[in-house]
Amino acid sequence: MGREKVDVLIIGAGPSGSVAASYLHNNGFTVKVVEKNKFPRFVIGESLIPRCMDHFEAVGLIDCLKEKGFEVKTGARFLQGPKACEFDFSKKHTDGWNWTWQVPRAEFDKTLTDELERRGIDIDFEKEVTAVEFSEDGSSATTILDIDGNSSQIEAKYIIDSSGFGRVLPRLLGLDKPSEIPKHSSIFTHVEDVRRPEGWEGHRITFDIVSRETWLWVIPFSNGYTSIGYVGPTNYLESFKGNNEDKLREMMKLSSHYLDRFEGLPYAFEPKMIKNIAKSVTKLYGDGFVLTGNSAEFLDPVFSSGVTFATESAHLAAKMIAKELKGETVDWETDYSQHMLDGVNVFSTYVKEWYTGNLQKIFFTDSENPVIKSQICAVLAGYVWDQTNPFVKNHHRLVRTVAHITDMEKEAAATSFK
Ligand code: FAD
Repeated sequence: MGREKVDVLIIGAGPSGSVAASYLHNNGFTVKVVEKNKFPRFVIGESLIPRCMDHFEAVGLIDCLKEKGFEVKTGARFLQGPKACEFDFSKKHTDGWNWTWQVPRAEFDKTLTDELERRGIDIDFEKEVTAVEFSEDGSSATTILDIDGNSSQIEAKYIIDSSGFGRVLPRLLGLDKPSEIPKHSSIFTHVEDVRRPEGWEGHRITFDIVSRETWLWVIPFSNGYTSIGYVGPTNYLESFKGNNEDKLREMMKLSSHYLDRFEGLPYAFEPKMIKNIAKSVTKLYGDGFVLTGNSAEFLDPVFSSGVTFATESAHLAAKMIAKELKGETVDWETDYSQHMLDGVNVFSTYVKEWYTGNLQKIFFTDSENPVIKSQICAVLAGYVWDQTNPFVKNHHRLVRTVAHITDMEKEAAATSFK
């Protein structure tokens, strides 16, 4: 039997693979998506940020998502003991979407792949990419294994690796590099939220900061379940005794805000633990391939940027491949790698400054500045390429400077009371 030939092979059918597949199919290219799992499948990454709505809209995937009635997310609340800091996306510095969703990803991702299949895009579920060979002209032969162990090959002019934590090409081509982000791990599950409070309180997404490096997420879904999970230093999470359920139940006691709401409720599944979350790579593209989404880079879940980076990179990579396959010249270094790294670097500053405590000082200050808040809000909404935002343009120093001023104001206030 001859090898199947396509223009573009996409590894993985998460949001990144789906956005890329949709764009290329809409533009007349032959696309094949190879997906290891059967959908729906569980994956973490449930709190979206508004920037990803631009990508779903651009590739024609927003309407199928809107029909599902996912829980609408219009901002995010951070708690630290008695203090609260609430962001409202409608008050952000940068123009763009003011809302998004908080979603059970199994259903969300299945909605995307159902729509792709409805439009005639070929998705091979339960097939795993195990090897790739590149020719000198950049074209490739990819080996696929089905669940019975049968192997087949696909020839493609381009490969988009959207395999998320599968990290197929970084593993096969030796592209992994250690991340600069602190070693954090996470433990999480879903709960039927039978004690969900009436009104807004029951639906709002919250991050409860129990110590500088350890925090709880509470993400209510429209299906009556809520996602709960902790992120913290790997050795701290491992110090809790017992299995994952014992650990999470013990950790829930750290949250004075949420202990009562979730105590004793059965978990929908044995809590999962992902260790040392942050990932990085030496390069984002090469002859005949590009890495998108989590397969390329993952920082930390604290600002929910994962899916947005996945869709931003997938949309851009698909546009550039389309141009290249039409014979146009493209500059992968400037227009892809540099663009993605610019965004990653902004978020990286916010993640690092979160864990140094500087950003937490700004969030939980007693003297909130609405201009600063709207600029930080735009970053949290994922609009990290807007150079009119000083908190994007000067991200390296501005967070630190404002944190320092916050400290000085606090000191001055304390002195004036003496
Ligand atoms: P995925 O959604 O992971 O999809 C990759 C697909 O590739 C999978 O379906 C997999 O089965 C398939 N695959 C893997 N290997 C192979 C193979 N060999 N062959 C074929 N297919 C393969 N992001 C957010 O936006 N918001 C959040 O709140 C958030 N919270 C997070 C919390 C934690 C603890 C962690 C670890 C991550 C979180 N993320 C969050 C990040 C989020 O999980 C990812 O960024 C997002 O899922 C990336 O999408 P993707 O399309 O790149 O990959």
